[in-house]
Amino acid sequence: MAIHGDVVIGIDIGTTSTKAVVFDEQGRVLASHAIDYPIIQPHPGFAEQDPEELFAAVIQAVGAVTIRHGIRPEQVKAMGLSAAMHSIMALDGSGRPLTRLMIWADNRSVAQAERLLKEQNGLDIYRRTGTPIHPMSPLPKLLWLKEKQPDVFRQARWFVSVKDYVLYRLYGDYIADHSLASATGLFRLDTLDWDEGVLSFLGISREQLPRLVPAIHILQGMKKEWADKMGVSADVPVVIGASDGVLANVGVGAVLPGEAAITIGTSGAVRTIATKPTTDEKGRTFCYALTPGYWVVGGPTNNGGILLRWLRDEFGAQEREVAKKLGMDPYDLLTKYAERVPPGSEGLVFLPFLSGERAPYWNANARGTFFGLGLHHRREHLIRAVMEGVCFSILSVALAIRDATGPMSEIRVSGGFAKSPFWRQMLADMLGKPLIVPQTHEASALGAAAVALHALGELPSLEMVKPWIGTMARHEPNEAHTLIYAELFDLYARLYERLKEEFDVIAAFQRRNG
Ligand code: ADP
Repeated sequence: MAIHGDVVIGIDIGTTSTKAVVFDEQGRVLASHAIDYPIIQPHPGFAEQDPEELFAAVIQAVGAVTIRHGIRPEQVKAMGLSAAMHSIMALDGSGRPLTRLMIWADNRSVAQAERLLKEQNGLDIYRRTGTPIHPMSPLPKLLWLKEKQPDVFRQARWFVSVKDYVLYRLYGDYIADHSLASATGLFRLDTLDWDEGVLSFLGISREQLPRLVPAIHILQGMKKEWADKMGVSADVPVVIGASDGVLANVGVGAVLPGEAAITIGTSGAVRTIATKPTTDEKGRTFCYALTPGYWVVGGPTNNGGILLRWLRDEFGAQEREVAKKLGMDPYDLLTKYAERVPPGSEGLVFLPFLSGERAPYWNANARGTFFGLGLHHRREHLIRAVMEGVCFSILSVALAIRDATGPMSEIRVSGGFAKSPFWRQMLADMLGKPLIVPQTHEASALGAAAVALHALGELPSLEMVKPWIGTMARHEPNEAHTLIYAELFDLYARLYERLKEEFDVIAAFQRRNG
């Protein structure tokens, strides 16, 4: 069938749902549909998903969006794929799953990650592969599988990620994009190939891993059964795309070297574009592939908006009640209280490590700490200090990235925190840089659609997505506030160093008495 399409479908295979979003050629959303699925936790610390369920969600989400919204097969110019990073599973020789997908949130391989760091030159592996040695990554998970389920490990003919599995089902071919591969800990940034050293340490061969292609690789000839169910042509060009993290940068318009995206949802992340693979001497940041010649250097933090949620749920009964009566969002009430307190919370510093911390400290034992409490501190000081603590943590990641890539030129913010103009201004003051709030939804799906058009040659440069994305607000830093935060940030960073060993003690105590 000749395709004279006028729409592009971005498919984002996320942790809680798969979304199919139909965009026109200017990146406007015409329709979208999401299919949810659960995370399965068979044991404490495990986090798995059913690969068949995720594959079915892809088919259903695209099917729903085309059929319900009357999109005809010949209208679809291309489809682009985004998927969550760090998932891994084993398949047998007939492509049947031997395990579920172990996803990024799976912590079973804590011991393996520790050993990799201490005994196997983990820092060298990180510098070659760009993926921090951490249980989130497939490398320690594969080591866990080898040690704990040797039969499954031996039987495995293939090891694949969620996107590789979906593509195998659609095309019968084992193929992986550079971007998701670069988040496995098994992929060399400099050669864009699997890392022989890591593979031989794990005892797996490159024949057990998918063939590698760049994000702009185009697949065609989908199995007709699935094309029909999705309401698209079997010949529709499907562009393999990249990971959700790096595509979210494209989707908010942070695409040129030095441009950064900061997301604070439940957790948080800072991600900057670089034009060569860039890792950190101290192993604090990640480096993942985007499109050929473009890389994303960044760091994830565990402690984002979840802290305000914790305050709301554990200490905000009063706000919840008042908000209900006034028909307001309790978050808006909490942040209103915080606004009454000056920057620096009158000398109250909060270390926000309630769920341990990933970047920049990579310390699962780190814990939350209020420092400097006095009788003059009221409830609103604590609320503000918590919000400032989240911003301190983002600043600490941004500084680690700056050490690797140089200063950031432009910063775009998104995620639930961005609903609060007050919190956004606080972050601008903390970073001492202007912030842009882009007008965009479904950033990863938009990024996938943009990369699809780029692959077809219709968007010669990804920079061309910028006009697609409006600006909702802009925040200029207040210099006086920046100075206050700079002083307190020094204290924050010192407090972390001084408390590092004590965090191990309290974490061990909590494990014994938990
Ligand atoms: P996720 O991406 O993790 O699904 P969201 O992006 O929806 O989550 O972010 C949720 C977080 O955003 C909440 O925990 C809260 O901290 C923050 N948030 C949501 N709404 C507001 C608001 N009106 N004011 C301040 N913070 C908010």
